[in-house]
Amino acid sequence: MKEENISKIINFNGEENFSYNPVSVPIYETSIFSFDDYDSLKKALSHEEKSHIYTRGYNPTIEVLEKKVAALEFAESAKLFSSGIAAISAATMAFLKCGDSVVCVKDCYGWTKALFGEYLQRFGIETIFVDGENTGEVFDSVKDNTKLIYLESPTSFTFKIQNIKEITSFAKKRNIKTVIDNSWATPIFQNPIKMGVDIVVHSASKYIGGHSDVVAGIVVGSRNDIDHIFKTEFLNIGAIPGPFEAWLLLRGLRTLPIRMERHMKSTQKIISFLLNCPQVEEVIYPYYESHPQYELAKKQMSGGSGLLSIRLKTTDENKIRDFTDTLKFFKKAVSWGGYESLIIPCIATNPVNEKSAIIRMHIGLEDPELLTEDLARAFKKIN
Ligand SMILES: *Cc1c(COP(=O)(O)O)cnc(C)c1O
Repeated sequence: MKEENISKIINFNGEENFSYNPVSVPIYETSIFSFDDYDSLKKALSHEEKSHIYTRGYNPTIEVLEKKVAALEFAESAKLFSSGIAAISAATMAFLKCGDSVVCVKDCYGWTKALFGEYLQRFGIETIFVDGENTGEVFDSVKDNTKLIYLESPTSFTFKIQNIKEITSFAKKRNIKTVIDNSWATPIFQNPIKMGVDIVVHSASKYIGGHSDVVAGIVVGSRNDIDHIFKTEFLNIGAIPGPFEAWLLLRGLRTLPIRMERHMKSTQKIISFLLNCPQVEEVIYPYYESHPQYELAKKQMSGGSGLLSIRLKTTDENKIRDFTDTLKFFKKAVSWGGYESLIIPCIATNPVNEKSAIIRMHIGLEDPELLTEDLARAFKKIN
């Protein structure tokens, strides 16, 4: 999207609805809205999906955020949830029933994998996990009862890319819904709806919030699909965010484009440093010329974010501990997408397996020189 249009969406889209011309969107900290008379109450109750009745449905602060994220994703509508995984669960369960089958990428976010691989099995919904890099394997896994294809491009920890256009054109012909997790690239670098995807989900706890102070999720799609999700999983399960969380996200959104630009610039510098480190076996990041899927990455995305993995030459836990503990400017923490740099060695979360040598890093907004010096010091320790 052109920078001019992104600015219009971020700064001039929804603010005009409030009295006194506030520059910052007011926080409507109210659970209910009252009506002047019986007729207006009756009218609102018959259009719950568009009326201010109760904050479990609609709230003016939340609405501004939904409007902006929908516009950034070229979608008609959006709904905010209390977490990314709540958004993912609602967006998928709303279109599934007992006896249906799902095709899902294998290296998706951990709780997404648990949702399809364990939770939904209890309700008679079967999932076939695929690598995703190989479009043919995705097609071969589709059966007569397949109702949904779930993508995450790039995937978690391994950053594998799916060919979004090929998959959506196949799915459309068979009336299969496609859902994609776009948290990594953000709407600044990737717009899946333009590539034919039906529904986009985000963990807004990551880049949209951007300051590691809020947990939330958002679903965007056509008005029909979002209304359907609203009337089913959203109202029933009730994983709603508060108006204050929406306000924090609005504040984060104001700087999303410049943050993403900085994350990308710093990450490119750090990757060129990492590629010359003898302790590093492989740098895993799709938006860099050394990645085998770089050509496809360039077609689908206009940039890369700050999250990457490296595969070390060692799986010795003592060495990985030394490396991690020597770093002064990378915080040891889960999640990502904030202003700060983070590190998480896979060996700390997994039993020993093929991912044990992988270390995931988030490159924050600090001076990249500071970060490379820090990394150089830590690599020296494990020579
Ligand atoms: C963190 C994450 C989620 C889950 O989001 P929460 O806001 O933590 O519930 C979903 N998808 C991806 C890719 C993530 O990294």
